[in-house]
Amino acid sequence: RRGVGILALQGAFIEHQTALQRIPSARKINVSLVRTPADLAKCDALIIPGGESTTIALLAKLAGLLEPLRQFSKTKPIWGTCAGAILLAQVVENTKQGGQELLGGISVTVARNGWGSQVESFEAPLTVTVLEDSEKPFTGVFIRAPVVLALHPSPDAPPIQIVARLPPEAVPSTRLLTGLEDPRTIVAVRQGKHLLTTFHPELTKDGRFHEYFVQNCILSSHSI
Ligand code: GLN
Repeated sequence: RRGVGILALQGAFIEHQTALQRIPSARKINVSLVRTPADLAKCDALIIPGGESTTIALLAKLAGLLEPLRQFSKTKPIWGTCAGAILLAQVVENTKQGGQELLGGISVTVARNGWGSQVESFEAPLTVTVLEDSEKPFTGVFIRAPVVLALHPSPDAPPIQIVARLPPEAVPSTRLLTGLEDPRTIVAVRQGKHLLTTFHPELTKDGRFHEYFVQNCILSSHSI
């Protein structure tokens, strides 16, 4: 069995645990909550939940987890959802003065709270071709979600795969977009073993993204 940890410092970690226990691959994994470097050392993969990215980063620093997490990201799969996606990015905008610590597993720039403060929360049907039953849309739950501002492909890093985009009619503030190819419509990205979703699959009953992460990033962990 592979050990799948969930960073349990703040945010929606219990929801991820419940989601992992429900998927078809549940018998192939051991799920544990990670709060210390010793907890992390037992894991083969990690999920960083949604919550508040600055708080999670601060608590990780206090727990002595920042460097262990950065080392972990070099060889083992990490999936970041919402705030977790921010931590997994290479560059972040919209942070208060002083910025925040990042892990940088995925070569993108994100902006926190990218859809503005008025539209704090919305849902959108996403077509995600890599999922099982891909003709069935996946409901993306966006809560003060970050947006992707830029991808930074490099010959030294695995290719960046766009896994899902917001349909244009679901974009809350179309005036923010420069067109359909605007990176802000990118809501799920894979690079190598890592996965980033700016929405919260753990807040739905649909376990297909959890199954995808376990099957494709952990159990058959070839880089793409
Ligand atoms: N806005 C939060 C942040 O910047 C993320 C919100 C979430 O995870 N639902 O960390």
